Amino acid sequence: MTDNYGKLYVVATPIGNLADFSFRAVEVLKQVDCIAAEDTRHVRMLLQHYGITNKLLSLHQQNEERIVPTLLEKLQQGLSIALVSDAGTPLISDPGMPLVRAIRNANIDVSPIPGPCALIAALSVSGLPLNRFEFEGFLPRTSSARKTFFTEKLNCPSTWVFYESSHRILACLQDLLAIFPEDREIVIAREITKLHETIVKTSLKEAVDRVEQDPNMQKGEFVVMVAGSPVKATEQGLSEEQRRIIEILIAECSIKTAVTLAVDITGAPKNLLYQAALDFKNTEHGE
Ligand code: SAM
Repeated sequence: MTDNYGKLYVVATPIGNLADFSFRAVEVLKQVDCIAAEDTRHVRMLLQHYGITNKLLSLHQQNEERIVPTLLEKLQQGLSIALVSDAGTPLISDPGMPLVRAIRNANIDVSPIPGPCALIAALSVSGLPLNRFEFEGFLPRTSSARKTFFTEKLNCPSTWVFYESSHRILACLQDLLAIFPEDREIVIAREITKLHETIVKTSLKEAVDRVEQDPNMQKGEFVVMVAGSPVKATEQGLSEEQRRIIEILIAECSIKTAVTLAVDITGAPKNLLYQAALDFKNTEHGE
């Protein structure tokens, strides 16, 4: 690290409630030479609230690659910069990655000013196991791509979580229900820290019914958390979901194709899937 280089601060901002802003974040935003913000108009509200009058420059998805050399130069001249996004922690489904990577590669300090993050806030109140979890960011936009994605997640043993917008929340949950068992536990965290904060923990089927029936549940910002697959594949047998998959496949194709596909989808042992396929075939024929 060169002593006379400046420093980049990655500063988390509130995700709804302006009071969720740390003392240190306010100090840093006052002291840096300039603030790189995803949307300068948006961040101005926050800055005004805290009496911060500092130079702003815009760094968003469309210009971030282009603007990196300019910011790097400023840091090399000894200036300090704060990076903020519209809400929450920058780089978490937000711009900033090219900048942080370039600055790290140039051996210049990057320091976090931690604070709100929708994903962490949602998980912390979910009541789901959190010893491990998988964050998926935003899901594919088309229904068919989402269903493919959900099929890949069927046997995920740990809690997994994604971001969703009001435009797609209902369609997304309906797609999830098309692939997942209806009793799978899910948690929907809506409008965290805002006036209409709603945290719903229920079965997937009930969650879909609720979002379908209540138009308010289709408004705002969402974090959706899905419990991991309850039964793991073991040496002795298949999980409920693995059985369900082979059952669906066996209704549509030959035993050989069904087993090949099921091995690809579930990763379960071929011999167990083969045995399960034979069992289903036999049951089908009333044997
Ligand atoms: N960097 C942000 C963070 O740290 O959480 C996330 C930015 S991403 C562009 C915005 C998404 O985060 C929203 O579409 C929503 O899924 C989620 N989100 C942000 N604020 C939220 C809130 N108050 N309640 C629920 N979800 C929220």
